[in-house]
Amino acid sequence: GEALAVSARVAPLGSRLVLLLVEDLTEARRIEAVRRDFVANVSHELKTPVGALSLLSEAVMDASDDPEAVERFAGRMQIEATRLTNLVQELIDLSRVQNDDPLEDAEPVRVDELVAEAIDRCRHQAGTKQITMAAGGTADLHVWGNRGQLAAALGNLVENAVNYSPARTRVGIAARRMSASGGDLIEVSVTDQGIGISDKDKERIFERFYRVDPARSRATGGTGLGLAIVKHVAASHGGEVTVWSSEGQGSTFTLRLPEAGAARDRATDHPSGL
Ligand code: ADP
Repeated sequence: GEALAVSARVAPLGSRLVLLLVEDLTEARRIEAVRRDFVANVSHELKTPVGALSLLSEAVMDASDDPEAVERFAGRMQIEATRLTNLVQELIDLSRVQNDDPLEDAEPVRVDELVAEAIDRCRHQAGTKQITMAAGGTADLHVWGNRGQLAAALGNLVENAVNYSPARTRVGIAARRMSASGGDLIEVSVTDQGIGISDKDKERIFERFYRVDPARSRATGGTGLGLAIVKHVAASHGGEVTVWSSEGQGSTFTLRLPEAGAARDRATDHPSGL
């Protein structure tokens, strides 16, 4: 009787353990597949501009007695070299946000400074497309985090808004404080009147290298890594990034981040992190 009781007690425990092990294996396999896809994607993305550069340099050599052709090929080489530089820089940024703990050098960061920096970064591109940029509501707001990472995240959102909008439209950046159960949050949203994103694509745009229209993304110097960086920065700061969009009408990307004061209060209230 006793042996039976013991095995009856072990059995449900045992099956739960097996189930956990199976789940662990599946998760490990999924992570491995994601890693393999990423390496394959990086190789492909690097090969494309390198291959183009190699062909173009051959073309330059063959056309040495045709100065116009040489100039044309050299121009295209410059575009490919820029593409390569952007990709390598974004890969470095992505690996940095994935490996560094942003809260190690966290500080209160002024939202108006982040916004001004993001606008500055896109001023040239917006100017050539006659896109108006306007910001509001940012005064006296502070978020808690790593200044460099937060600037990269907001910069990417504003850059995308400009890149995926037609000429003579408007990009608006708005900030406000929101009460939330865990402390106040700062919400920064970037709204464009651009091409918009379908519901199907909305689920995938935050993945590394996912682009709705790869040709369009490449033409504007896109790498497909920007939103993956934004998502990682938001999450590691205890925040989130969400998107609202209507195809052909425009998009709004919203970053929610802990407010400077609120984040510090939370850290002292709950030293265990719970
Ligand atoms: P990319 O370097 O291609 O811009 P991102 O990761 O920043 O890479 O964005 C992924 C894809 O999401 C883009 O290629 C584009 O298709 C789509 N996307 C991002 N932002 C916008 C936007 N504001 N409007 C429309 N589409 C966007």
